[in-house]
Amino acid sequence: MEFSILSDTFDKMTRTQSRLELTALLVEAIKKTPKPLVSRVAYLVQGKLYPDFLGIEIGMAEKTVSKAIERAYGVESTAIQKLMRKTGDLGDVAAEISTQKVQQSLSSEKLTVEKVYSTLEEIAKTTGSGSANIRMNKLGSLLNSATNLEAKFLVRFVTGKLRLGVADFTVLDALAVAFTEDKKNRTKLEKAYNLTNDLGFVADTLANKGMKAIEKVKVTAGKPVRPMLAERMESEDEIIEKMNHDAAAEYKLDGERVQAHKTSDGNLVLFSRRLEQITHQYMDVVEALKSAAFKEFIVEGEVVAIDKSGKYRPFQELMHRRRKHGINQAMKDYPVVINLFDILLLEGRALIDEHYDERRKSLEDFLQKTKSKDRAMLVPARRVKDSSEIDSLMQESLSAGCEGLVVKDPKSSYTAGARGFAWIKFKPEYRPNVRDTIDLVIVGANHGMGRRAGFYGAYLLAAYDQEEDMFKTTTKVGTGFSDADLEKISKIIEKYRLPEKSPRVDAKVTSEVWFEPKVVIEIIASEITLSPIYTAGLDAVRQDSGLALRFPKFTGKIRDDKSPEDATTVAELLEMYQSQVRQFKSEKQEVQKV
Ligand code: ATP
Repeated sequence: MEFSILSDTFDKMTRTQSRLELTALLVEAIKKTPKPLVSRVAYLVQGKLYPDFLGIEIGMAEKTVSKAIERAYGVESTAIQKLMRKTGDLGDVAAEISTQKVQQSLSSEKLTVEKVYSTLEEIAKTTGSGSANIRMNKLGSLLNSATNLEAKFLVRFVTGKLRLGVADFTVLDALAVAFTEDKKNRTKLEKAYNLTNDLGFVADTLANKGMKAIEKVKVTAGKPVRPMLAERMESEDEIIEKMNHDAAAEYKLDGERVQAHKTSDGNLVLFSRRLEQITHQYMDVVEALKSAAFKEFIVEGEVVAIDKSGKYRPFQELMHRRRKHGINQAMKDYPVVINLFDILLLEGRALIDEHYDERRKSLEDFLQKTKSKDRAMLVPARRVKDSSEIDSLMQESLSAGCEGLVVKDPKSSYTAGARGFAWIKFKPEYRPNVRDTIDLVIVGANHGMGRRAGFYGAYLLAAYDQEEDMFKTTTKVGTGFSDADLEKISKIIEKYRLPEKSPRVDAKVTSEVWFEPKVVIEIIASEITLSPIYTAGLDAVRQDSGLALRFPKFTGKIRDDKSPEDATTVAELLEMYQSQVRQFKSEKQEVQKV
């Protein structure tokens, strides 16, 4: 398959703001792709070579890429710098230089997707000393045969700036249409994706084995399962009602969610809430779980820092483990335990369709046969039948240093990748009148002034609209940031800067700078109001009005454990708004009674 088919598609994609058009372009490209290449195309359109959980990134430095351009086209570095100042994008620079190529191309061979992918794979796998030169030469050889459009997208790809605005769900939509002519099949593809977290695998299975094989996709040790998530509720009464007066209430521990996979070759890998590999951070947890007498399993739990007496410590203590060097000392100074709350696979048997009660039994059995009892344990849980029992467990949980409870339906299976009422989280701050935190995605910013000059001063934030797979704006926030926060966030966000609004962002307001929706921050607000300038929940409560936050303030927490799709959803904001209205009405009634 000629690579130009992809680079032409990429070019058209960069020119559209419409998600429907993006999907249509993808469908067209997938239909032109030979079946054995479909998985590679599924990764390439997202600027990847592999699923994220393998943690292999190509990440070439702009300096190395500039050198490759210099050599491939026989130009001076000053010419590149000059163009760079003009366009600000190394991909555009490569495209422009390749059109006025000084050096005649050594090869007139056309680039193919196979060739591009395998060379990029070689680049990704070449590491260690002396690797920069080899990587540069390999990229140079591709540039040498590339057309100007191909050069532009190759350069953007290797520098991690492809950014076509193609979300996972857009690819799933496109696959459904391309292979089954029916967008509704996306639900089945999504299920397979939720179980494997691997778009290339789903694409390959669909293309080469069909829908039947998609329906048979199972959880597999080594491929992270998208986590089951909880809805929130505000009172014990509401919760016990929803659970039909029989529920399993567990402590909600304040730590880091971890999914541990042991594969039959004896390897044990830990995945974060975002399903990235974090094995090296918690080698003590790895050791503890390796002491379980099983060959293959997937278990899930919350890793929590503890003090010498085994008491839980706050979430912030885990920050000491987020480092590359000195991890052995950090393990000694900041010990942790894993508190298991679920088991998804044991010795080749998928457990996700079994009821909570059965999974909990399997988990107990698992821990009985685990030697390291002080590092791996069960999350404290109790059966509750009325609201007073929930209340008393809540008091216990809070005094043990936890955040609250997760109340679970004993008859529920594990629904990967879904937020639902089979798990209900309950924290003291969910009670009405107490301000709750909201996790929102940075999509834009204005430059700071005065003391904030040089950084961004206010951020435009969006909630995630799950139905449309878009980010909808809901507030601008400029308070709550220390100088250090502003500096840190400005630095993190800079690499996601875009020349214009991302096609995944829906906004009516303008912004001086736009960003790819990537970074999630935690906000506290006094109230949710209606506003004509924001697009979250537009028309849901009132025609032409969206949901906005009143007095928003940054809490100091950058939620790097959350991907943008894990941010607070528009549906959740709407629920919060409605609960505010209910609260207001009942207060009014109270006043009238008095
Ligand atoms: P939050 O922002 O409240 O951490 P979240 O979006 O990360 O929420 P939710 O599913 O809404 O995830 O809330 C449950 C989270 O609470 C889990 O992701 C997990 O990290 C944590 N947790 C702590 N204890 C438990 C438990 N016993 N069962 C399930 N999750 C638990």
